[in-house]
Amino acid sequence: MGFDDKFGGGRGGGYNSGPRQMFDVTCSDCGKATQVPFKPMEGRPVYCRDCYMKHKGDSGSRY
Ligand SMILES: [Zn+2]
Repeated sequence: MGFDDKFGGGRGGGYNSGPRQMFDVTCSDCGKATQVPFKPMEGRPVYCRDCYMKHKGDSGSRY
């Protein structure tokens, strides 16, 4: 009970209101260390913000 009380009660609420968890990744394009707000999947490229925008625009206009 003590354990549960410690985690349930204390400071600042639920799963959604806390600070967003960030994951350290390396950009598949430029190789820069960056962070993403989702858990990167194995085998999938992850991009830093700049490259993400770049690729997003690129695939949109190219195909
Ligand atoms: Zn990048």
